Amino acid sequence: MKIQVLGCCKEYPGFSTTAFLLNNHLLLDAGDMGEVSFKAQISHILISHSHFDHINGLPFLGEIIVGKNQSPIPIIGPAQVLECLHDHIFNNKIWPDLFQLPLDGPVFQFQEISPDKIFSAGEFQITSFPMSHSVPSTGYVICEKDKALLYSADTDSVEELIPIIKRVKEINAILLEISFPKRLKNLAKQTGHLTPDCLEKFLKKTGGNIPLLIFHMKPLYVNEIIEECKQFAPIVKMVQKGEILFI
Ligand SMILES: [Zn+2]
Ligand SMILES: [Zn+2]
Repeated sequence: MKIQVLGCCKEYPGFSTTAFLLNNHLLLDAGDMGEVSFKAQISHILISHSHFDHINGLPFLGEIIVGKNQSPIPIIGPAQVLECLHDHIFNNKIWPDLFQLPLDGPVFQFQEISPDKIFSAGEFQITSFPMSHSVPSTGYVICEKDKALLYSADTDSVEELIPIIKRVKEINAILLEISFPKRLKNLAKQTGHLTPDCLEKFLKKTGGNIPLLIFHMKPLYVNEIIEECKQFAPIVKMVQKGEILFI
């Protein structure tokens, strides 16, 4: 499975909001996509939650592909995501309703998912599960052939991941959010995010042999977070914008 890191931090010079492209066509969260918006043949878009840093690329992606695509691109996520996209972005005030427009073939269509039900997106078999965040947030297990990627989405707890790891036979990598350094643990908790405090216990519980790919670092604290994660290298590593990983 190919994982292209389009964005993995909040908006800041040199960083981009959260978006990953899997096997060149499945978009996992829709933050900044850069040139990929123009080049990639995106077939499915999987959204974890409604926060702006996970959806801000959608309006511009829609603008680029309007009139070009043969059939609507499915945006896959829990019902709450659709509600927010519809009410606050594609409401014909902030942006045209691309779930309705153009009238002869809308750009997007919404595909609602229910937790724990397996669904397909191209060659991928995907399961969703709820995470703990300041708004409803959905994690995903994304499988292709014998490979499996676990995506934590935004969360302030890793406990939800443990039963998933036990249930799925082999997870090849975990994309885990860490947003703040340890000294800002309270702020992290208040805003529904993780700090490196979670790592030691989590690695013990999961056997310490599944690569943890850290994303969602707040740009101002990247260096601090890197420093605090160093002791867990190489099993714990930060992903970087532009990086291409294979699992
Ligand atoms: Zn969030
Ligand atoms: Zn976020």
